[in-house]
Amino acid sequence: MGYQIAIDGPAGAGKSTIAKLVAKRKGFIYVDTGAMYRGLAIHFLNKGISPEDTEGIKKACEDAEITIGYEDGQQQIYLNGENVTGRLREETVGNMASQSSGIAEVRKKLLDLQRELARKENVVMDGRDIGTSVLPDANVKIFLTASVDTRARRRYNELLEKGEACDYEKIAEDIKERDRRDMTREQSPLRQAEDAYLVDSSDMTIDEVVDKIESVCQK
Ligand code: C5P
Repeated sequence: MGYQIAIDGPAGAGKSTIAKLVAKRKGFIYVDTGAMYRGLAIHFLNKGISPEDTEGIKKACEDAEITIGYEDGQQQIYLNGENVTGRLREETVGNMASQSSGIAEVRKKLLDLQRELARKENVVMDGRDIGTSVLPDANVKIFLTASVDTRARRRYNELLEKGEACDYEKIAEDIKERDRRDMTREQSPLRQAEDAYLVDSSDMTIDEVVDKIESVCQK
């Protein structure tokens, strides 16, 4: 069994940025489980299924295979053998992932893959249910959060830097809606594990958050 660091938290809390840096410092593998949900979402979209079509999504799980690999240290997602990493951050993909991740069949499809990776390697794994459900015995559990305003502002600035048109109010509403869906679903809802360490990054720099997590790992 490898050393396991589980980082959970709501959308836009900076989990992937932080988890990548923690993994780099410790020489661990970074596993982005949200990307796996996004990979499956591409499968549903390719089949023309709508996010509300629960039965269609369940059925489509039968012929989807998600695998992961690493290129220059970057996680790659393969859907039925095809590398779909370049499409993962599309808005429609994020929306489909957010809606379809509440379906038991979708979660079941990815659970073994996530556990298998953590069995073989030292990992920093981020998601919504890593400390509560995927790796309940993780060595270190972090619940990383930030206020809605901070998360929306970070996302807004990110899009501005990319030169994409964006509306702050719409981003904040979207974040609230994703929080609501993640926290209220029946299947592995987002919540802080009892033994998780809470880190609110609203007023912290990236380095401060990484230092904090490293110090928790040494306890
Ligand atoms: O973190 P990211 O936004 O890439 O995740 C995409 C979607 O996958 C989220 O909206 C969330 O609902 C879902 N997810 C999940 N459990 C995880 C990781 C992500 O339900 N462990």
